[in-house]
Amino acid sequence: MNLILLGPPGAGKGTQAKRLQAAYGIAQISTGDMLRAEVASGSAIGREAKAIMESGALVPDAMITAMLAARIEAPDCARGFILDGFPRTLAQAEALDRMLAEKGRRLDHVIELRVDDAALVERISGRFTCAACGEGYHDSFKRPKVEGVCDVCGGTAFVRRADDRAETVAARLEAYHRQTAPLLPYYRAQGRLVSVDGMAAMDEVTRQIEAALAR
Ligand code: AMP
Repeated sequence: MNLILLGPPGAGKGTQAKRLQAAYGIAQISTGDMLRAEVASGSAIGREAKAIMESGALVPDAMITAMLAARIEAPDCARGFILDGFPRTLAQAEALDRMLAEKGRRLDHVIELRVDDAALVERISGRFTCAACGEGYHDSFKRPKVEGVCDVCGGTAFVRRADDRAETVAARLEAYHRQTAPLLPYYRAQGRLVSVDGMAAMDEVTRQIEAALAR
């Protein structure tokens, strides 16, 4: 099963993608995580991407499309994948369609997580993750049970994304509305789009997605 999760930054794509990965045994692919790994390693791609990401803009289509094409060849994608953060432009969506057609594969579902912009700013600017295991937390909605200690792995170091500052969030939302929202009519026209209420509680969002996948 090959899926796309579409939605603005902070809509909950990463959380839901991890749950779907566990439930369906398919690979979760976050192009944002892949880019952050490149930045951390200091690679040529990372050096090119760093300033763009910190400004809240999108990296060039050619760069991200090449990364994604290599990633979906990996063995863990043989049973399928969940794309979280790709495609983000029409050119990327068209490139993905071509890539899949060449491999005799297809997209099964595109799930949109619908969330109000006002809620996104609060969701994004409060989030942080465990530096060791990546478990996600939030200043208002999900603090560790013991302050300063990760619930999952006991780690005591936490990180905040450089682009989660309030100043950058506005630019990321603008990029979403201008460059990524046009993918909604694109996938609707292909008959693949299902929209779910991303404002609902996390478990309810998962339930709505699983219902859409079962159709
Ligand atoms: P994310 O973790 O998905 O919010 O992505 C963080 C940042 O990485 C974005 O704001 C972009 O700068 C960059 N990025 C991630 N995925 C893409 C993509 N598919 N196309 C262009 N830029 C991307």
